[in-house]
Amino acid sequence: MRVAMLSLHTSPMQQPGSGDAGGMNVYIQNLSFALGALGHEVHMITRTANESHSMQVGEGVWMHEVQIAANQDLKKEELPQIIDAAVLAVSEQMQGLKFDIVHAHYWLSGMTGLQLANLWSVPLVVSMHTSAAAKEAESGIAEPGNRKLAEEQLLRTCSRIISNTPIEARQLERFYDVDSKKLDVVLPGVNHRVFHPNQDKLRRPLGDDDLHLVYAGRMQRLKGAHLLLEALGIARLTQPSLRITASLFGSTSGSDEYDLKSLVIELNLGDVVRFYDPLEPKELALVFANADIVAVPSLSETFGLVAAEAQACGTPVLANAVGGLAYAVNDGKSGWLMAEPEPEIWTAKIIELAQNPEMVTSAGHGALEHSGSFTWERAAVETLASYRLSQSEFGSSQ
Ligand code: UDP
Repeated sequence: MRVAMLSLHTSPMQQPGSGDAGGMNVYIQNLSFALGALGHEVHMITRTANESHSMQVGEGVWMHEVQIAANQDLKKEELPQIIDAAVLAVSEQMQGLKFDIVHAHYWLSGMTGLQLANLWSVPLVVSMHTSAAAKEAESGIAEPGNRKLAEEQLLRTCSRIISNTPIEARQLERFYDVDSKKLDVVLPGVNHRVFHPNQDKLRRPLGDDDLHLVYAGRMQRLKGAHLLLEALGIARLTQPSLRITASLFGSTSGSDEYDLKSLVIELNLGDVVRFYDPLEPKELALVFANADIVAVPSLSETFGLVAAEAQACGTPVLANAVGGLAYAVNDGKSGWLMAEPEPEIWTAKIIELAQNPEMVTSAGHGALEHSGSFTWERAAVETLASYRLSQSEFGSSQ
């Protein structure tokens, strides 16, 4: 099967953890490589403001950077204006390739994919990753109205929809009135060759401590790193004898003012919290393996790849019981899901874990076991099943 894998606003090959690059990039790259390893041909397609460029990046996998809106540094919010130009540029660069399917990721690529799939007379499969309505419902942060309207049209018109979790599927049914028969669920995977337990102990980065937590990901309000810091601030006031440290990896994303460094000063956590630039997966895996706990304080999360990756390193996860994290974490066995994203609730759990290291050790074993169910090969096979179904439905509708 030859697949056009559309990721217009962010390249799947970009280092995640900053700007617009996060779990979706990791998802698309790993899924494409897994499909390639199964003998299929995958063409990942993204926008560049520079010269167009195509190269083979793996067995059966190509990366095409297509010049659209040359030399313009456009923000994600400005990209809806270039959808028509994107259709033209992509169809020109892909001339000569006969695709069997278009798989578009996120609504911006979805809108481009609708036109390309029409042009090529092939089915369009869409993975939303996040949707405006679900984000609003979980976080209370408003999304632009035109995005919701476009998402409605996209979900109504595409052939099939692949959700990351059953929760995402139910959200699309509820908020967008999507027919459940059109929905497939494919849980993401983890690259276990990269994320695995590691015996090479790193030095405690902030000196001796009772508990060391790690956060990794884009720094924006929705990802909730402020919640972790607030919880540590309260812990310091209520249990000053405990030394609880945290390392945060990633950089700012999105346009909202989100100043975590000032918060650290305000909370008097300067000696127990450190910020680091995003790391390559291999280095991140070592950091995860050496942490006591990986914190995923997101207020809304479609799946939460960091949670799965941390567990694959044998490290339990502390997270909120929101969105797909309920699938990524086995509450009480591979980590802990907090009922409310409240700093006091987080503080109580963090103190309990700092005082009871055996709870952390035991959940570490549960974490590794739980992560075994997340593989990219399984995700690729299930994705193929969705492609096949969309082809036969598309064939009979022509
Ligand atoms: N990540 C990384 N280096 C970093 C921080 C994060 O490679 O320093 C990766 C991380 O391994 C994960 C992705 O970025 O695969 C974040 O995905 P997640 O689903 O947790 O969050 P999202 O970015 O999709 O909101």
